[in-house]
Amino acid sequence: KDFRNNVRPNWCPGCGDFSVQAAIQRALAELGKEPHEVAVISGIGCSGRISGYINSYGMHSIHGRALPVAQGVKLANRDLTVIAAGGDGDGFGIGLNHFMHAVRRNMDITYIVMDNQIYGLTKGQTSPTSAHGFKNKTTPEGNIEHSLTPASVALGAGITFLAQGFSSDINQLVRLVKEAIQHKGFSLLNVFSPCVTYNKLNTYDWYKEHIVNLDNVEGYDPTNRAGAMAKVVETNGLCTGVIYKEEKPAYEDLIPGYKETPLVHQDLTLDRDLFEKALAEFA
Ligand code: SF4
Repeated sequence: KDFRNNVRPNWCPGCGDFSVQAAIQRALAELGKEPHEVAVISGIGCSGRISGYINSYGMHSIHGRALPVAQGVKLANRDLTVIAAGGDGDGFGIGLNHFMHAVRRNMDITYIVMDNQIYGLTKGQTSPTSAHGFKNKTTPEGNIEHSLTPASVALGAGITFLAQGFSSDINQLVRLVKEAIQHKGFSLLNVFSPCVTYNKLNTYDWYKEHIVNLDNVEGYDPTNRAGAMAKVVETNGLCTGVIYKEEKPAYEDLIPGYKETPLVHQDLTLDRDLFEKALAEFA
């Protein structure tokens, strides 16, 4: 069960995305998955390359559209472990609408976002999660927009599993990837994954200084949605660990007549009599 392949990532040395790739590979192996049982669907951006770096089925899809593709894959073959992956610009900018609806739909897929608070691939523009006042080449006087907090959006849209990780805490990251995959329903794992080349504000040291690790917060109850929202607000969105989880039927389990056998394994031979009968009804 080796989820490594021989493709060498072309991420910059030190990029946080290396840890996310390693965590996904380790988590899948520790869960006893086989490469043919997994599909990794990614969007566009530096992090979007990840589908090519994992030994599994995969698709490097289009900007902001990893989630619609991933949901289609899951509907066609519910036996697959489906992981959607991408960056903050991809998922919370271009793809925000898809994200909100995927959350409320609650299909059994895992969405892993490498959140570096910048557009890295296009050389460092502000993204939806860039801080207010953030200075870079597109906002030399400071970002006049206010940032979006993915955890608040997810909780507000009714997410059933929400976690955040940090690239420099690989052991926690592996555990969170495993829990997210094992959750029956839509899960978001938002990972603070520093862009060492273009983001000189949100560095590894900056995150270490600001992150509150919920694993160390005594008495924190991840089954309380209001409490989870309060903690996200209190920490300005900078908390890691499992923030919220609840059990709720997944979308595919609620479709009337949805067959246990995945579509890809069903006999799709045309029943001529049934077809003629159906046609006759519309004649
Ligand atoms: Fe990573 Fe930033 Fe380099 Fe992209 S530009 S590979 S996000 S360090």
